[in-house]
Amino acid sequence: MKIFNTLSRQKEEFVPLVEGKVSMYVCGPTVYNLIHIGNARPMIVFDTARRYMEHKGYTVNYVSNFTDVDDKIIRKANEEGVDPSVISERYIEECRKDMQALNVKPATTHPKATEEIGGMIEMIQTLIDKDHAYVGQDGTVYFKTRSFGQYGKLSHKNLDDLRSGGRSLLVSGEEQKQDPLDFVLWKPKKEGEPFWESPWCEGRPGWHIECSVMSKRYLGDEIDIHAGGEDLIFPHHENEIAQSEAANDREFAKYWMHNGFLNIDNKKMSKSEGNFFTVRDISEKYDLQVLRFFMLSAHYRSPLNFSAELMEAAKNGLERIVTCVSNLNFLLKNAKDGEMTEAEQKLAEEAKGFISQFDEAMDDDFNTADAISAIFDLVKFANTHVSEETGKAFVQAIKEEIVLLSDICGLIVDKKEEILDAQIEELIQERQAARKARDFARADEIRDTLAAQGIILEDTREGVKWKRA
Ligand code: AMP
Ligand code: ZN
Repeated sequence: MKIFNTLSRQKEEFVPLVEGKVSMYVCGPTVYNLIHIGNARPMIVFDTARRYMEHKGYTVNYVSNFTDVDDKIIRKANEEGVDPSVISERYIEECRKDMQALNVKPATTHPKATEEIGGMIEMIQTLIDKDHAYVGQDGTVYFKTRSFGQYGKLSHKNLDDLRSGGRSLLVSGEEQKQDPLDFVLWKPKKEGEPFWESPWCEGRPGWHIECSVMSKRYLGDEIDIHAGGEDLIFPHHENEIAQSEAANDREFAKYWMHNGFLNIDNKKMSKSEGNFFTVRDISEKYDLQVLRFFMLSAHYRSPLNFSAELMEAAKNGLERIVTCVSNLNFLLKNAKDGEMTEAEQKLAEEAKGFISQFDEAMDDDFNTADAISAIFDLVKFANTHVSEETGKAFVQAIKEEIVLLSDICGLIVDKKEEILDAQIEELIQERQAARKARDFARADEIRDTLAAQGIILEDTREGVKWKRA
């Protein structure tokens, strides 16, 4: 399996630190609003990478944080006259709902910045002790970028240019910085802001330190993969590397993965520009599986332009797979039992080629666009070779293959024909009537029909109650 590593700007063979295991950290959202579909891109593409690695047999320890202390959260809390934690908890809850609707698996751990302050203070102290950080007059702690020889290795930026440009960009209060590229590890509190005690001043952490600390705590000093949107390469990830490697004396992450931007009208979609759709907005018009399919139809590193036409194309594409599986389900009901014929065995063997095609695409830096083409080819194969004469074993094998490959992409294509509450009530009424008429055969039949759908009936004194198994 090859992964494009931002560090080397090359595709590299993936070799995990520990055989059979993958440790992966994905920078998560700042929770002050509903997530927009740009934020959903890293969630979807890195969830798909995780699912694929799990399919290959790796145990993936996947950590993704919630940034729950930040200027924007504080501003919103002040506007609403509530504690910042009310805002962050509200949007963490909403974010979890969106993730579930997008079929993004929960991370192994979702740490929150405010619950990791102790670890941050510890790492900052280590950096001060090792002379990688210094304390300004007002208690602000800065990372000393010149003390870390490899600063800039991820973003491949010309630091001298940045430094000379940076001096003029310093805002008031930053005169105490020794170098324009030095960045804040800890800052003093301001009126109306949450704060924590520290050896330097009452205050709160800078943004970058949280990821270094959470990654260390939940995954160790050295991890396999660190990921996020490409806007995070500089300064966020560059600063994370400086902090972690200076503090731990170890390489922080072996592979750095960055997703391209989701644009709208070929401009970056962002909250600050105001040109965004929330995931919730899209859910009013589309099943969110369509959004997931849309995201995966492009390579994760390419920019992707959001448009109504592409969403319609995604809807049609997904429907092609869902319809095929639904036809196979229909055929399964009456298909002949027994072993595959020789011809079917040959075809089943041929069909395995689509799994190899899919794996090859995913092994090439998670090329989901080509992987989805493999699913389409398999669907076409199914539509060509499965008919009412086909035996059950073969239909089942083809269906399982489509479902397996879709599932690796996190796409739910085997829609169970769900029985609705209203239908259940209706059948219960009919069963009661049948019993009254002493038609016990019909009453039992209804009970069995419901049981087959996982509905359990309970005769109580207050009448018939039901629950889903
Ligand atoms: P934020 O809440 O802005 O820190 O963003 C959370 C994650 O979403 C980060 O990994 C960002 O890089 C990513 N992200 C934000 N906007 C976009 C976008 N328009 N396209 C792709 N990724 C984005
Ligand atoms: Zn981060």
